[in-house]
Amino acid sequence: MIPRKRILITGAAGFLGSHLSDRFIKEGFHVIGMDNLITGDLRNIEHLFPLENFEFYNHDVSKFVYVAGELDYILHFASPASPIDYLKIPIQTLKVGSLGIHNLLGLARSKKSRILIASTSEVYGDPTVNPQPEEYWGNVNPVGPRGVYDEAKRFQEAMTMAYHTFHGLETRIVRIFNTYGPRMRLNDGRVLPAFIGQALRGEDLTVFGDGSQTRSFCYVDDLVEGIYRLLFSDYSMPVNIGNPDEITIKEFGEEIIKLTGTKQKMIYNPLPTDDPKQRRPDITKARNILSWEPKVNRAEGLKITYDYFKSLPEHEIKHKDFTYYNTK
Ligand code: UDP
Repeated sequence: MIPRKRILITGAAGFLGSHLSDRFIKEGFHVIGMDNLITGDLRNIEHLFPLENFEFYNHDVSKFVYVAGELDYILHFASPASPIDYLKIPIQTLKVGSLGIHNLLGLARSKKSRILIASTSEVYGDPTVNPQPEEYWGNVNPVGPRGVYDEAKRFQEAMTMAYHTFHGLETRIVRIFNTYGPRMRLNDGRVLPAFIGQALRGEDLTVFGDGSQTRSFCYVDDLVEGIYRLLFSDYSMPVNIGNPDEITIKEFGEEIIKLTGTKQKMIYNPLPTDDPKQRRPDITKARNILSWEPKVNRAEGLKITYDYFKSLPEHEIKHKDFTYYNTK
């Protein structure tokens, strides 16, 4: 029997990490999940625990990473990933993108693994070009509230390229645009869980600024497919994966009001510092190199996501505090 390919997924208990774990299990891999559970939740992967081809380590990748045996692939998805997280846990955000990636690149080198790292549209900062192609260098404020995430991810890309060019490591970089779906944290402060949570609690929807800023939302299954294809491609430069269907936050609020049937309205709060005014991926590269494009439209994706949030226990829907990090 051919032994299963072995893959390490960091951030496995998080939103994206758990969906990736599911996908690689489905494809017949032996999946080693790793997470320190600061923002991850074991409930996202508890269905995998009985499987013999899944194992889990509660570990912070900012500290030396040890994995026994061979490793064919590494996916680095451990990181806080919402603006509320960056404000609450800025140092951890910087450490996982810097110390963490150094440890994982070292691990990849010693195991001769191919490594794919999760980067982000935040490397473009508050972009002055729209849509954003991979060649755009960005407009980032290093000392603003988002700087801890943006600069960590930019450093992570630089470090990954250095290991690629200097050590000949097989590396892949995905720049992820706003993604949504089941297992997002209801209280992570991001616009989609915020609006749906507010609708479920019968509260008004809090639009930041005048709601004219844009985002482009990608359903999680589409994202996972793009990442899967990128890992097995031979392309080592960054690739945008996201849905180019751009919408203003105000229009998005209207869609959520319609979807949930809430009687509440939108109220307007101040725009957070450095909140990007526009964001839309140019996915020409993903189309050409990976023959990938998103398949799930917002109406379908939002319906599935709303059903997921509705199915959560009442006390979780009612709990509005953006805290409960395990940072001890
Ligand atoms: N936003 C909003 N109301 C909220 C949360 C977010 O209007 O309750 C806005 C936010 O200012 C931003 C957009 O929605 O312009 C997307 O925010 P999110 O935190 O989801 O992610 P970002 O794309 O900014 O990283």
